[in-house]
Amino acid sequence: MRSPSPGELAELKAAAFDAIDEAADDVWELALYLHENPELGGRERASVAKITSLLRSRGFSVEVGVAGMDTAFVASAPGSSGRPSLAYLAEYDALPGIGHACGHNLIAASSVAAALGASSALPSLGGSVAVVGTPGEENIGGKVIMVREGVFSGFDAALMAHPGDRWSLDQRLLALTALEFTFRGRSSHAAAAPEEGRDALDAVVLFINGINALREHVKPDVRMHGIVAEGGRAPNVVPDRTVYRMYVRASTRERVDEVVSRVLDAARGAALMTGCEVEWREYELPLDEMRVSETLIRLFESNAALLGVKEFKAHEGLGSSDVGNVSRVIPTIQPTFKIVREGVPPHTEEFARAAASEEAREATLKVAKILAATGVDLLADPGLLERARSEIA
Ligand SMILES: [Zn+2]
Ligand SMILES: [Zn+2]
Repeated sequence: MRSPSPGELAELKAAAFDAIDEAADDVWELALYLHENPELGGRERASVAKITSLLRSRGFSVEVGVAGMDTAFVASAPGSSGRPSLAYLAEYDALPGIGHACGHNLIAASSVAAALGASSALPSLGGSVAVVGTPGEENIGGKVIMVREGVFSGFDAALMAHPGDRWSLDQRLLALTALEFTFRGRSSHAAAAPEEGRDALDAVVLFINGINALREHVKPDVRMHGIVAEGGRAPNVVPDRTVYRMYVRASTRERVDEVVSRVLDAARGAALMTGCEVEWREYELPLDEMRVSETLIRLFESNAALLGVKEFKAHEGLGSSDVGNVSRVIPTIQPTFKIVREGVPPHTEEFARAAASEEAREATLKVAKILAATGVDLLADPGLLERARSEIA
């Protein structure tokens, strides 16, 4: 297909905005339904049923249960054919106790609305648009599994936005490996026969000291933090089993892996010093850092200006998310949109309330339009995707 003139492109974006306005009530009803019926990661059955029924009613063809997960789905927009193929990522898992305190109900709503908007351009531009439902961001890392199962090899870019206390163009994310160490010693009477004991708690203490010594000789982006999950049972019994859980994070997967190998040496050393044995496993899926595509960011920024959003503020803190794993496979964008006063972090009661507020409604529809317009740009000019691909290589 021939590429559209600037005037035609502007018309396609205006049509996408109209499509979102037309769907606004349904989209917001969906956001509120998810908010009122929070489900934990991996169990988001009612949420997925609600999201996909809205998409089906608008002509999407839906496959639920992809990548071996009941609550993962791919919903293709009507009129989709061939490449480029855009994935709007939906999250919909809540947190134990405080419901949608990370605002994932708004991620689902904005990605659904953005896909409705962008797909209005398919008859003119060709290509494909889908909503990809990714379960359990908080507790499973559903996207990690979906990357491993090759779900994203069918797509050329992934777009989503996360609610927050500010508008930002991107969120730098750290790669993360979650390790669980089990030290095994020999129990004994701690007073009557201490010489018979091999103290697995001593092993943990020395291990922690080893990590603290290592802390001084790693790059400043490295984070190592952990807890003693099992530390023995009674003071008069030499602990024969202890468990230490920790995260190693850094700005790249490669750096995390390198630090992990040194952490494993510290665990071996601690076990050797105390006459214990140690084994370890990764007890959560490893998360990758966010690879940032300048091209996608500049597109988002210029489309945001169309909607009157012109001020962006970087985030100071760094977390980790399974969207990082997607960003190493295809160009991915996850800006944040403001739904709450500055300084209110996610995972709080106040953030949970904000995720159902009038301010959230307005911001969700706005960010959906920005993501839709960004999608229209990508469908119109596949050269942009080529550039974005080279940026994440
Ligand atoms: Zn969260
Ligand atoms: Zn979140």
